[in-house]
Amino acid sequence: MTIIHPVHVDSQRLAIHGGAAVFPEGAPTWPPVEEDILNVFRAIWSDGSWARYQAEHLETLEQQLMRQFKTPYVVLTCSGTVAVELALRGLKVGPGDEVILAGYDFPGNFRAIEAVGAIPVLTDVVAGGWSLDACLLEAAWGPKVRAVVVSHLHGELAPMRDICRWAADRGVRVVEDACQTPGGLVQGQAAGAWGDAGVISFGGSKLLTAGRGGAVLTHDAQVRQRIRIFSQRGNEAFPLSEMQAAVLLPQLEKLAPRNQRRQQAVSRLVERLAGVSGLMPGKIDGGLGVASYYKFGWLLDPKTISEHGRTEFLAALQAEGVAMGEGFRGFVRRGNRRCRKVGTLPASHIAAERTVLLHHPVLLQGPEAMDRVAWAIEKVLSAMNKG
Ligand SMILES: *Cc1c(COP(=O)(O)O)cnc(C)c1O
Repeated sequence: MTIIHPVHVDSQRLAIHGGAAVFPEGAPTWPPVEEDILNVFRAIWSDGSWARYQAEHLETLEQQLMRQFKTPYVVLTCSGTVAVELALRGLKVGPGDEVILAGYDFPGNFRAIEAVGAIPVLTDVVAGGWSLDACLLEAAWGPKVRAVVVSHLHGELAPMRDICRWAADRGVRVVEDACQTPGGLVQGQAAGAWGDAGVISFGGSKLLTAGRGGAVLTHDAQVRQRIRIFSQRGNEAFPLSEMQAAVLLPQLEKLAPRNQRRQQAVSRLVERLAGVSGLMPGKIDGGLGVASYYKFGWLLDPKTISEHGRTEFLAALQAEGVAMGEGFRGFVRRGNRRCRKVGTLPASHIAAERTVLLHHPVLLQGPEAMDRVAWAIEKVLSAMNKG
């Protein structure tokens, strides 16, 4: 691999201490400003569909998602968060039931379980990663367990085949959260298409964005029917709008080529940082398929970076113009009245305390930008090691 040396960043002095920033122009914004989206706005303005309850865009989007994910049913919703709740309702999860969830996950998933009246059962993630450890499912099981919620997080894929096989044996239903990996492929099948219900998000920062929105994907006609009945309040209670559907259509076409560019960027970055101590990348796709990258994650190495070092690391990188932030807070500190914990969840503790995430827009900027991100990370780590 030829490494492109960024000429203007020869200074070792950190931007946070007054040195030259690696990205003086700052981090790229999302979504990119593009003509095809403007054309959508013109078209929905001129045909009036922007103001209708139902024109053709919602249906076209449903059809395209069905084709892309190879699931016969799609329910479009107003957010990914609500889509998780609706998926649980569609699977008949309710009061008195338990739902297995990783000790480190999107905060809304814990709330979605509570919202249907069920109790989260927290199980650990894999050591050194973020996805639910399939080997621990049996220990989390009990007669009240009705479902498991499993997320693909930060570029790591969860082992859906093992999880679904275990769940089928136990009569447990699976909700697969693919909000962070639309277009990803897990063990030969689309991420989101493995579970009894899959969920994707069209939130403002996501790879497919309408500012807000989401969808439930399912092979089960009854799941779709139960969601429809629950959502019907004399009118749709959790809808996606025509306007939102219209702006998603051109993005769906660009998802695969963009995912490919992001994958190449991540490979380059990981290769560039291979010899750098301090950061431990996740298992990337874990040999399970091809991830798509919404946030790309690392765990900070406790040997190099102290417990409070994460704040310092992130502040320094942000000053360099790199959009990196903390991971989720996880649920390890949630009270025992709100959930049942299986063991002490050591890997979830580490994930909650040590995860740092690179936001996706920079991944579309090409190899030179990746070398600059790697350089910024090296520069910050080396300054911290000296300090
Ligand atoms: C973004 C996200 C969601 C849902 O988000 P919304 O903003 O409500 O659409 C759910 N799960 C994960 C893992 C996410 O990253």
